[in-house]
Amino acid sequence: MTSVTARAPGRVNLIGDHTDYNGGLCLPFAIPLVTTTLARARGDDRLRIRSDAYPDGWTGRLGDIAFDQRAALPDWVRYVAGVLWAAQEDGWPVTGLDLVVDSDLPRGAGLSSSAALECSVVLALAALVDRPLDPGSRQAFAGLCTRAETEYVGAPTGGMDQLVSLLGQPDHGLLIDFADTSVRQVPLALREAGLTVLVMDTGAGHELADADGGYAQRRKECDAAAASLGLPRIGLAWPDDLSRLDDDVHRARARHVVSESSRVEDVITAVAAGDWSEVGAILTASHTSLKGDFAASTPELDLAVATAVDAGALGARLTGGGFGGSAIALVAEDGAAVVRDAVDSAFADAGYEQPAHRLVLPAAGATLTRGA
Ligand code: ADP
Ligand code: MG
Repeated sequence: MTSVTARAPGRVNLIGDHTDYNGGLCLPFAIPLVTTTLARARGDDRLRIRSDAYPDGWTGRLGDIAFDQRAALPDWVRYVAGVLWAAQEDGWPVTGLDLVVDSDLPRGAGLSSSAALECSVVLALAALVDRPLDPGSRQAFAGLCTRAETEYVGAPTGGMDQLVSLLGQPDHGLLIDFADTSVRQVPLALREAGLTVLVMDTGAGHELADADGGYAQRRKECDAAAASLGLPRIGLAWPDDLSRLDDDVHRARARHVVSESSRVEDVITAVAAGDWSEVGAILTASHTSLKGDFAASTPELDLAVATAVDAGALGARLTGGGFGGSAIALVAEDGAAVVRDAVDSAFADAGYEQPAHRLVLPAAGATLTRGA
């Protein structure tokens, strides 16, 4: 085989934010915006990587991506090199490669362009080195990409994005339980119910790889809360454990994580009952918790959520970590335009940059095509 093409989607997290690295629950779905990697194995140790986003590209050798050399690489190259490094660590026979990356995902918008890039690279590489591509193997690939992002890139993210990019299915959400990293496909018949999800990208980019950023700080606070309770991760706490946390900030962070996992369970119950108003109300409650207890929102995200709900959305929340990026609103298909226009006017009145809107439904996870 000379070349392969892998396509991996971004994602929207319907509910369950900041639960992944805390051992809790989340329910993301893959969206129909993808990153495509065309990969060809070379007969030597050269690496050539091109991306439509960074047209200068990068050229080097396998030795240049060694773990202790990573600081010398351009930021974006680390997401690719990290996957190759993690694959080598796992014993994959990585040779020289030509990689061409092309994406229709916005970067830093909270739709997980980073995981889409990693997952397209890992799937292409897996095919080139003849790994099986079944769901169990894909789950292991997700772990490898998460390792690339946390250890090699240094972005302390939790693994949700990679799992759903590799395992997503049309018209399904992926329930992930980070207590044991088990996954379950959950039917999400939004289309049948005449509903859709409006993604409102506030344009305020979030840099998750920033070691001093809000995301990394929240992670430390959650770890500290878990340590005070003698737990490995705060998502494993019971609600009545929280009163034992003396630090007000740690208690609020923990309360978000524990209540957010319950909301994921409540959404699954409401979806099964076809009670979409209840689903919407739970999404909005999630935003309130992310804004208050977890302090992960921004004025732009709060305005998008409040305006969407006022304009008839069943519910709305920030998605994918916060500190900028996107919010989602659960809307009737025929009410989406009204919600979008209301959010645009509210942003104009507030003097904020106009958000970019997209309508999405749960789409397929990563796919592979062999041959050029
Ligand atoms: P998000 O995953 O929400 O889009 P992140 O901050 O996690 O935001 O990841 C964005 C980073 O991932 C970009 O700054 C860039 O370094 C890298 N990246 C994403 N997509 C591409 C791409 N198509 N080509 C090159 N690098 C990319
Ligand atoms: Mg990301």
